Order: sequence, then structure tokens, then C-alpha cells
Amino acid sequence: MNDRKTLDERQQMTDLERLRHSCSHVMATAILHIWPDAQFAYGPPVENGFYYDFDMPHRITPDEFEKIEAEMRKIAKDNQKFERRVLTRADAQAMAESGRLGGLADRPGNPSRFKLDLIDKIPEGEEISCFQNGDFIDLCAGPHVGYTSKCKNVKLMSVSASFYLGDESKGQLQRLYGTAFESKELLEEHLRRLEEAKKRDHRKLGREMGLFHIDEMVGQGLVLWKPKGALVRRALQEFITEELDKQGYSQVFTPHIGKLDLYRMSGHFPYYQESQYPAIAERDVLEKLADEDASCATLINGLSDGTYEGYLLKPMNCPHHIRIFASDPHSYRDLPVRLAEFGTVYRWEQSGELGGMTRVRGFTQDDAHLFCTPEQVAAEVTGCLDLVKKVLSTLGMNDYRVRLSLRDPESDKYVGSSENWDKAEASLREAVQTLGCEYTEEIGEAAFYGPKIDFVVKDVIGRDWQLGTVQVDYNLPVRFGLSYVGADNQPHIPVMIHRAPFGSMERFTGLLIEHFEGKFPTWLAPEQVRVLPISEKTLDTAEATTAKLADAGVRVTIDRSPDKIGAKIRTARLERVPYMLVIGAREAEDGTVSVRHRDHDDLGAKPLDQFIADLTQEIRSRSL
Ligand SMILES: [Zn+2]
Ligand SMILES: [Zn+2]
Repeated sequence: MNDRKTLDERQQMTDLERLRHSCSHVMATAILHIWPDAQFAYGPPVENGFYYDFDMPHRITPDEFEKIEAEMRKIAKDNQKFERRVLTRADAQAMAESGRLGGLADRPGNPSRFKLDLIDKIPEGEEISCFQNGDFIDLCAGPHVGYTSKCKNVKLMSVSASFYLGDESKGQLQRLYGTAFESKELLEEHLRRLEEAKKRDHRKLGREMGLFHIDEMVGQGLVLWKPKGALVRRALQEFITEELDKQGYSQVFTPHIGKLDLYRMSGHFPYYQESQYPAIAERDVLEKLADEDASCATLINGLSDGTYEGYLLKPMNCPHHIRIFASDPHSYRDLPVRLAEFGTVYRWEQSGELGGMTRVRGFTQDDAHLFCTPEQVAAEVTGCLDLVKKVLSTLGMNDYRVRLSLRDPESDKYVGSSENWDKAEASLREAVQTLGCEYTEEIGEAAFYGPKIDFVVKDVIGRDWQLGTVQVDYNLPVRFGLSYVGADNQPHIPVMIHRAPFGSMERFTGLLIEHFEGKFPTWLAPEQVRVLPISEKTLDTAEATTAKLADAGVRVTIDRSPDKIGAKIRTARLERVPYMLVIGAREAEDGTVSVRHRDHDDLGAKPLDQFIADLTQEIRSRSL
């Protein structure tokens, strides 16, 4: 049974979707071979596979997948033809009444109740059809592949509870998911990728490596960076800061809250309230309303319309930076002004959407706001893109594309003149073309106040990660009445560029954990070297070695446990420490260290000074 889409839409089903949908018929056939009473409801292709919803007393568990798959393989081997037949409404209803539709034979006393309902949903005058393979006949609009032999490269993935057409009142069904590909190789590649993704999951690695923690008592979506995670973040921030310094940015710090008036001016409040934490009312307002026995609605309305003052956890850093810019007079000669901050912002995400570091409620953006003349926009945007290029190439992420989000000229949701929009869009397009990477233009995807550039990075296993943006804004400078004195001695309105190219430190670090599978390059690794004394006898030398490395600025620890050296090496490897230095009697005597790398075997003995020189060079150059 396929989705009742229009004929046109069904014909647009890709070949792969057609194959996967056909597999859901084969899966239903296999289930019926084992459990002939199963009642099938609905089985469309979905992203990455297909499912079928059904009802039966027996609950399928994952350890039965193999049995069902074996049955599916038999049906594929049988090479049954998918035959289409047009039914009159009366015939279709009779076949459903007898239990024949969605079954292998008539099933007296077990009518096809979901099929009956689906027949009722087919509009009068539309053709009703069924497809048969072997003994299985299903109500279906198609399309299918020709024969079941095409359906041999399948794998069942998971089983879960579902509801008939999403309607909870109709009782719970079982939903069995599978995936299928045209070839064995493609299926194996897909399964290998899933396995790889599971191994790299930053939530799992973050826990194992002690990088971060999310604590129910602190709050969902609020990331606690543990000491090791904080070291990774610090190394990353230092790197980005160095690049910002080179590009003439000025660093600022701003508080985590601001007055509601500020956000009324910027337009963030009372709009977008559903994506923010609720406003914080001032104490005297609360006391006054309590005295008056006023309702919550009075408070909320009063905060929204400005009767009462209050504060907002900042959803954006822009208004604070704007007030910094506005605190001094500016001449065209000091533009551009580039204000950067690792600024923490808070957004209210639905709790169902939260997970790990990638969907959070509080996060620190690698934020900056550039205030420039209209003539400087293209060059400034190009500068932003250069920085992204530098950071991504240092991290070995050379596969990325860019999305240019433009306004929909038909829509009226955008603020600002159409002349300004044209200018901004042209500047972004010009800058993107200097990147030399693939880019697409998306009409109608711009923010209400300006067009933007988004980055999508492909990680090592080929998954897309959406990072941050570069955005041109002709609107906020007007709202805040910003100005600078031009060469003509007249006041002019600056253009503002918002950029947070890596999105947030949380999301970016989550990406890096998965990209490197926790094996950070040495410069990013929370622990760069672990010193391993072979026994108590070489402990003093090991301590001295550790001190010397720490003196050289290396993040180093020592393993003082009574474990055997083999076990110490295993532990350090498991914790993904790049370098292990083994200190035995010989090393203690001649001032060398026996070097091991987590990914390579024994690198042999080196004088300690030589090792330190090589290592600090590797860290300084941020080698991969
Ligand atoms: Zn079908
Ligand atoms: Zn901004």
C-alpha cells in the first residue's frame, strides 16, 4: 500500500523509492508466511528506506529480523511478478471484507480493516488498483519494480510502535523499518556508514572521553563542558582568535542579558517569543502585580507591549555590539569596525529536539559584527569567507559547499528597500564566487532583515553538517539610528554584517568529535602526551620528564598506576592520547624517551629534548 498521492507525484517516485516501496510488499509477504493473521495498514518509502505499519498479536523483536529477512530472500529468489489489477470499488470492498487484501488468502473472520478504511478514503471516480506478487495481494496505487528478484538487497533496521495514519485513537500498530539498495555493494556501503556514524556519535564519545555532560538538574540542552572538553574548546577558540587578530577584529565581552527595550528596538521582542526563554520581569513589577492580585496574562501582555520593563536572556549578541558601536562617534576613516565575541546566547528549542551538543538551548557563537560602508561590504564578506576557509582547511575539512539565501521578491515579510536588498545580494554573490567552491542560490530562504551565506561541511564519512552564517543587514543600523560621518562631512548609515561561521562552539565541537572519531590532532587534543613509567624504579625520571613537558606548554599527564606497561599503553590508546612516552631503565639512564603514537606503532627512542622540539613544532603549526 503506497501513499495516495496524485498520479503525477507517484510517477515522480525515484527508481530507488520504487524499489524500496516494492520491498515493503515483499516484507509484508514474508511476515504473512510466518504470521498469516497480520493486518497491514500503510507502507510507504521513506528517506533511507521503507516501512510497513501492521497489527498482530505477536510483537516482533529485532532478533526475529533474520528470520523475516531469510523469508524475504526466498521471495526474491522466487522472482514473482508484481501484477497490477484495476478493481471496482465493490470488488475492492469485497476483497477487504474477506481478509484477502493485504493477505495471502481469504481470512474468514479477519477482515482487512485498515484496507477497508483506506478504500473509503479513495475519492469517488479515482481508479482503485491492487498489486499481486505470489499469493500476496495488496491494495496499492504503485508504482513497483517488475519482479521481486530486484528486492534482494534488503536489510531490516528497526521496529517501533506507531499509530494508524498517526491517529492515536485507533490503537497502536507495529512499524517495521527496512532499507534496500540496487546492489549488494551499495547496501553494504550504507550499513558500513551507519556503523561508522554510531561509532563516532559525539554523545557516546563525549561521555567516554569525559568531554561534556548534560545534567537534568541543570537543564536540558544546557551543555556542561568538562575539563577535557574545555581544553578542546580553548584550543579552538585560541586558534580562531589568532585569525581574528590577524584580520583586524576587536574582541569584546558583553553580559548574558539585556533590557527588553533593547530587544524591542532590535525587533527580537515581542516577536520570536516562542523561540526564547520567557522574559525576566523586574522585581518591583512583580511585587506590584502580586499586590493587585493580577493575572499572568496581565504580566505577559504588559511585558510584550512595554507597560512593564524586564530583561531577556540574550537570544542574539547583535544588539549589545550595536550599542558598543553607537557609544563612540565614527568617521568613514575608522570603518570597518569589527567587533568579535565568543558570545553565549539562549534559545528555546522544543525538548523533543534536544540531543548532545548539536541541538541545545544555550550556546556560544563565534560571533562578530562588522560595521562598514556600503562600498566595503563585498570585501568584508570575502574576508569572512577567507577565515572560514583557513579554519576548515586547518581541520582537514576540505569538502564543503555554500548556500546563498536570497529573498523571495513576491513576499512582503522582508524589511528594507528592495534597492538595498539587490545591493546586498549582489555583494554576497560576488564574495561567494571568490571561494571557488560549489554553491546554490535559494530563493525565499533569507532572514527578514538580509540575505545570508550558510556553510554545509561534509565530514569524513560523507554526512552534511550545517554550520553558521554570514549575513548582510541593512535593517538594524536603521532601527538603532547608527551613523558615521562620510567623506562629504554628512552623516551616513553603516551596513552591518553578522557572522558566526562555525555556528556555535557546541555544535562545531560535536562535529569535530565525530569527524576525528575523538582522535583530535595533537594541537586540539585535551591530553597531548602521557608518560608511562615501566615500574616504580623509573617513576622519578618519569616525573621529571612530565615536568619538563609541562614547562614547554605541553598538556601532559603521568600514569602512576601499578599496571603493567602493556595495560598502560592500552588505556592511553583507548583514551585517544596522541603520544605515549615509555620510561624504562635504559631510557632513565640515557635521557631518552621511547615514543609511541596512538595510530602508529613504536616510533623508537628519542632524546627528550628532541621529542619536545618536534612536538612543540607539531602543535604550533597545528598539523593534522
Ligand atoms: Zn505498493
Ligand atoms: Zn548578529
